[in-house]
Amino acid sequence: MAEPASTYVLPPPPVVALPVAGSGALFPVRRIYCVGRNYVEHIREMKEGDERDPPFFFQKPRDAIVPSGTSLPYPVGTADFQHEIELVIAIGRGGRSIPEASALDHVYGYAIGIDLTRRDRQVDMRKRMLPWEAGKAFDRSAPCGPVHPAATAGHRLSGAISLAVNGVERQRGDLSQMIWNVPEIVAKLSQDYALEAGDIIMSGTPAGVGPVGPGDVMTGAIAGLGEITIAVAEAEA
Ligand code: MN
Repeated sequence: MAEPASTYVLPPPPVVALPVAGSGALFPVRRIYCVGRNYVEHIREMKEGDERDPPFFFQKPRDAIVPSGTSLPYPVGTADFQHEIELVIAIGRGGRSIPEASALDHVYGYAIGIDLTRRDRQVDMRKRMLPWEAGKAFDRSAPCGPVHPAATAGHRLSGAISLAVNGVERQRGDLSQMIWNVPEIVAKLSQDYALEAGDIIMSGTPAGVGPVGPGDVMTGAIAGLGEITIAVAEAEA
């Protein structure tokens, strides 16, 4: 007698995907990696680490992605909810130990992301030498805009990156100020993890991070990638 076809005992989770700018297509997301510190001025404002330390990486769950235009509730478990505007690198071809010289061949495109952070929780975990998940990998912590294909829009190695809250600028930098640039990030990350198509990498934030609360609207911009807008609503009951 034939085995019955396998069925899921629960509905499988939905595919998480980002819109591809200028088309109706979608970029499916596998993993979200983040670079811990990558702009000198931000390291100085956080008073952490040596500016020449190699980059380190952490992850967020892919279902933490919310699209531009979202109004998200103030998160639970924090009294210091902060924005970090970041260039997002979208990987189109996987690999291990990718050489810097060919790293850009693995990049499908770029997007604007906000590495939302429960700063009090991150700092507390750091002080106790514990993992950062509580500060970084919470629900709705990864707003991300559309992916702009490098094939048509080019690579993003320089250009302005900024974030305003209620129209008042908080963060401003230039992608050329990254301590580790896009090819270096892809090369170094792929030494520790096998990258796969669909991985995205939040590449660190310039100085000017700070708190937001209910009623605030964050608008992030990167030259050539448009804008991302995220509003903060009251905490869920
Ligand atoms: Mn960050």
